[in-house]
Amino acid sequence: MATTLNYINGEWTESESGETHTNYNPADTTAAIGEVQSSTAADAQRAIAAADEAASEWAATPGPERGAVLRETGDLLAERKESLVETLVSEEGKTRAEAAGEVQRAIDIFHYYAGKAADIGGEIKESSARDTTLSVREEPVGVVAAITPWNYPIAIPAWKVAPALAAGNTVVLKPATVAGITGSKLVEALDDAGLPDGVLNFVTGSGSVVGGELSTDERVDAVSFTGSETVGDIVYQDAADDQKRVQLEMGGKNPTVVAEDADIDEAVEIVGAGAFGVTGQACTACSRAIVHESVYDEFVSGIVEYAESLDVGPGLTDPDMGPQVTQAELDGTLEYIDIAREEGAQLATGGSRLTGGDYDDGYFVEPTVFSDVDPEMRIAQEEVFGPVLSVIPVSGFEEALDVANGVEQGLSASIVTENLRKAHRFVDEAEAGVVKTNEKTTGLELHVPFGGMKASSSETYREQGDAGLDFYTITKTVYLNY
Ligand code: NAP
Ligand code: MG
Repeated sequence: MATTLNYINGEWTESESGETHTNYNPADTTAAIGEVQSSTAADAQRAIAAADEAASEWAATPGPERGAVLRETGDLLAERKESLVETLVSEEGKTRAEAAGEVQRAIDIFHYYAGKAADIGGEIKESSARDTTLSVREEPVGVVAAITPWNYPIAIPAWKVAPALAAGNTVVLKPATVAGITGSKLVEALDDAGLPDGVLNFVTGSGSVVGGELSTDERVDAVSFTGSETVGDIVYQDAADDQKRVQLEMGGKNPTVVAEDADIDEAVEIVGAGAFGVTGQACTACSRAIVHESVYDEFVSGIVEYAESLDVGPGLTDPDMGPQVTQAELDGTLEYIDIAREEGAQLATGGSRLTGGDYDDGYFVEPTVFSDVDPEMRIAQEEVFGPVLSVIPVSGFEEALDVANGVEQGLSASIVTENLRKAHRFVDEAEAGVVKTNEKTTGLELHVPFGGMKASSSETYREQGDAGLDFYTITKTVYLNY
């Protein structure tokens, strides 16, 4: 069984703890796929020291030269795509097609920010004084910590690491433990592409130990975190002591409104793909369909048929839906299914762990639909992070808007309608960082900003696109009187 090492100051090294964590294939837990280091606070400190040491030289490296390393990394990821897909599916569980999409996203992100590295600069303004150049420069922030979740174990590290390096920062990456092997493959590509020692460091281990060290150490200037709200709160508090720059991207309770004029077949496809794609384990997954009463019955029978048609199985066998990532995530989903039943929601389809044959060795659960859900029920308010959809009937557009906005989170929201006025009103009124019409809540383009409103985000900086560079640069204003 392969052992994944930490990567500190250009060296692949064991944790000083001498301990490892074993990762299993979520589709077949009889198969351990490898081990990652159970690192200590001292390991994290060594990584921070290496990043701190390398910071000034990388910042002084010309942008185009930094960009060349990113471009080469993208090329190497592309060459290795097949094997990256296998690793990702084996460790995280999503289907081969979904994994291929994710790996391609990581490749594209590296190529995108490779180009951007030469464009970072600033602007020149007129000064009130003569013989003076007044300029505004964008400089790297310094040492960045990237703390990432398991659900997009290569794309999310990519969309933090690539802009951070493009802008001239050094980085310590702490991936989710259960998906640390996939994360290490990104680091291998950067190493092979010739990234100088110390510019990127990689440390696996307990969130509170390694993540806690990264969020509190004074040599870290900025922390970019994606994960749950519970942990995001801790990271924000930890980072407040020495006023680090912080970016948090967290959960969602994303709605799709189905208006009375919607094409119902289209609505079923949009909601079904948003709810059950990547096993519902996306921050932007659709977990609430808010449906006008006049099309409600037709929609419910359509979405039940959609859910029942999905072929669930091991991601490597090209099913429609793979397993959940861990026993804990599966248990969480089953617990919410029980809660929904107790609250009086109607179980329209699914609701159980899949068993028998190969299913017994994996974390498989049925695509699940609850109908007649009241918007105040916990199943309609809290993130489940599994393939569970709540269908909520409403009697008009205003009520649909109220229900859509009536949750703490505000990540992604969509509406299915043929009516231009409703489409525009929804875009205006939806309290979400990403709003779509006649599209699923999931799926993002890489060259536009991504982030949430309300409890989904720290509301500080966006990720991706040009905006993704803002977090990684700090402004210096220069008065140059000659
Ligand atoms: P998580 O449990 O919050 O973990 C995220 C990361 O934080 C992991 O690397 C984790 O390490 C680490 N961590 C845990 N405790 C920590 C602490 N005290 N200090 C610092 N770091 C700590 O999230 P997850 O279960 O991996 O991912 C699922 C969540 O991510 C969902 O809520 C989902 O909505 C959200 N998500 C949001 C977005 C977005 O862009 N908005 C995208 C994807 C996912 P360990 O793995 O070692 O525990
Ligand atoms: Mg978690």
